[in-house]
Amino acid sequence: MRSSRISGFYKLSFKKRLKVLEGFAGLNKEEIKILSNRGALGEIGERMIENVVGTMPLPLGIATNFLINGKDYLIPMAIDEPSVVAAASNAAKMAREKGGFETSSTEPIMIGQIQVTNIPDSLMAKSKILENKKKILEIANKKDPLLLKLGGGAKDIEVREINRMRIEEGKMIILHLLVNVKDAMGANVVNTMTEAVSPWLEKITGGKTLLRIVSNLATHRLASAKAVFRKEIIGGENVVDGIIKAYLFAQSDPYRCATHNKGIMNGIDAVLIATGNDFRAVEAGAHAFAAMTGKYLPLTDWQRNKDGDLAGHIKLPLAVGIVGGATNVHPTAKINLKILGVKTAGELAEVIAAVGLAQNFAALRALVKEGIQKGHMSLQAKNVAIVAGAKGKMVDKIAEILVKEKKVRIDRAKELLKKIK
Ligand code: NAD
Repeated sequence: MRSSRISGFYKLSFKKRLKVLEGFAGLNKEEIKILSNRGALGEIGERMIENVVGTMPLPLGIATNFLINGKDYLIPMAIDEPSVVAAASNAAKMAREKGGFETSSTEPIMIGQIQVTNIPDSLMAKSKILENKKKILEIANKKDPLLLKLGGGAKDIEVREINRMRIEEGKMIILHLLVNVKDAMGANVVNTMTEAVSPWLEKITGGKTLLRIVSNLATHRLASAKAVFRKEIIGGENVVDGIIKAYLFAQSDPYRCATHNKGIMNGIDAVLIATGNDFRAVEAGAHAFAAMTGKYLPLTDWQRNKDGDLAGHIKLPLAVGIVGGATNVHPTAKINLKILGVKTAGELAEVIAAVGLAQNFAALRALVKEGIQKGHMSLQAKNVAIVAGAKGKMVDKIAEILVKEKKVRIDRAKELLKKIK
């Protein structure tokens, strides 16, 4: 019987791990060859994560037409879903008519959370923490002299009390360490600082620290973007009206809102992945932010302006970096940052916010005009044709027929392949 209990898999060489997989999953030579081709990442991948047996390439597309704060950008997007890059480019083209996107962002302040439990006297503990603010910041800042030199570092604290505990668990105090992480995403920096600070916190509060980690709900690190879409360009008053109604639907219905926000994250995640940023972190923060009021709400809002044009706005936490993490390790991420030409993490966050807004606009416009499937289907049909076994020019030929017949299905693609061959 095959077992997944493999002692020391991590110690094996890349080749030997593939051998194990070959035996375990019955992989054939062709499959092993695909895994062995490590592409642009090469052997770097082995230093990035554990138990590496290959890389997982994604298509990398470029979204064109983005004019943001008067500057032109070409935007690399890594994503498996058809239509996203085309939709972003098309939305950005329409936004140019009214000057493109206007963006802004707050300081790159991340929150590090330290949970202090078993507190004998919470009132006394809170005042002790506030009294010791200078010392706490000093301890934290000793951990990253480089960040300090760059003008970043721990800047402030917030103290919160959590009272919802069962009485026998005692009260909890949560210290927020507010750290300016400059051009980094900041999780490692902040985690190191929270761990450094915790022994001192235990000493002054008489409590016991438990969790010490960054919060992905980066409410002090927000990026926003706005744009106006001229009604004549986007299809007339009906489209403006439809998009506003679609937005109101999302605002009042979490089922719709999840999909509304997913459309935004299509664009955002694609840029995050292309630049080696932590998309899980941004996703978690975005959805938590969307639910901050206690109700899950859209990350964008859409209104009709005084000229009857469509005005859109997006605001969300965007903890992204242009240094640290995978951004400076992954060779393709480095190239993508060069293509973007962003000088700071804040500029990257603003570009990403603009992409999120563009993506949302494109999805809503497609939904209210013709339904999302029309655009999706022609690209989806190509995937279906490939899965059915089409190669080269045959992919386009089969895809065209599938769309024409409105039968984008693998069984039909296989039938057509047999017929045409
Ligand atoms: P990092 O530690 O790799 O790099 C940050 C360091 O770079 C700073 O400490 C600083 O010393 C140095 N630096 C040099 N130039 C800088 C500049 N201009 N601005 C800022 N710092 C500069 O990376 P990080 O950003 O602290 O952490 C990001 C990584 O942490 C990601 O890979 C992420 O996936 C991971 N992570 C995330 C979580 C989470 O989100 N919950 C938790 C743990 C780890």
